Amino acid sequence: MSPPVTRLAPSPTGALHLGNARTFLVNWLLARQRGWRVVLRIEDLDGPRVKPEAVAETLDVLAWLGLTWDGPVVYQSQRHAAYARALAALVAAGTAYPCVCSRKDIDRAATAPHAEDATPTYPGTCRGKYASAQAAEAATGRAPAWRVGVPDEPVAFDDAVAGPQRFDLRRHGGDFVIFRKQNLAAYQLAVVVDDAEAGVDEIVRGDDLLDSAARQIHLRRLLGLGEAVRWWHLPLVLGPDGRRLAKRHGDTRLTHYRDLGAPPERLCGLLGFWCGALERRRPSTPDELLERFDIARLPREPVTFTDADDAFCRA
Ligand code: GLU
Repeated sequence: MSPPVTRLAPSPTGALHLGNARTFLVNWLLARQRGWRVVLRIEDLDGPRVKPEAVAETLDVLAWLGLTWDGPVVYQSQRHAAYARALAALVAAGTAYPCVCSRKDIDRAATAPHAEDATPTYPGTCRGKYASAQAAEAATGRAPAWRVGVPDEPVAFDDAVAGPQRFDLRRHGGDFVIFRKQNLAAYQLAVVVDDAEAGVDEIVRGDDLLDSAARQIHLRRLLGLGEAVRWWHLPLVLGPDGRRLAKRHGDTRLTHYRDLGAPPERLCGLLGFWCGALERRRPSTPDELLERFDIARLPREPVTFTDADDAFCRA
């Protein structure tokens, strides 16, 4: 029997910071402890925002930290044909439709956006309106994106870390974009196609993507891709203000600490401490953490990045 497969899926648009690195480390530790194959997939679908140097730097810094992967690297920018086939299947099945709404249109139409959501729920303005992308463009002069209809029932799944989940996608974002108007696959469709093709059955990532899991389960059902996936959504690393770790909290990129001369063992030790594998901050290696890491001891609460963490990495 072939081993389970997982993936590390960095987006090379912003450089890898300590929060992303912690998720990747946990993913890698689970994989190596349990004998999963690790696919590295570069999520470089953002066209002009992705610079080739950023891709090379992402690979380089993951290796510097001591993470490893199996087989060739997959680049989403090279997989357009597979995404286009999936879109064609959804269009043929009548579940995808062209949409010419701008973000402004949607903001205006939304009566009760969820405070916690970054984007308001799409009200379905273009659903059933245009027979084809050409018809939509001819009628409006706008190049359409493609959306997929969401199910009438909530999508429920069990997360190995976050527990039982249930999302009513009609109220939580509504019909979502699967292809952008630049003829680029959108995140939700691309990951589903890639995960299925690589035989990924263990998905480990930050819990800001919990609702995306519901969308991805829905897409898998529509595309007949099976649902034999185990989800592991990890609590995030937050800044001292309680918001997700980001630039506003200072420079926590791995390359920043590397450029200051910090050895990877310090970063690895901090991440190991954050994962419950070390009792205190001290230098460590992925191999040592393999012996000590226990997913049951991973804190179920978000971790807060503090000045002491920053000082430890700089030392
Ligand atoms: N590329 C995404 C990120 O860096 C991860 C997507 C996923 O794991 O599905 O946040």
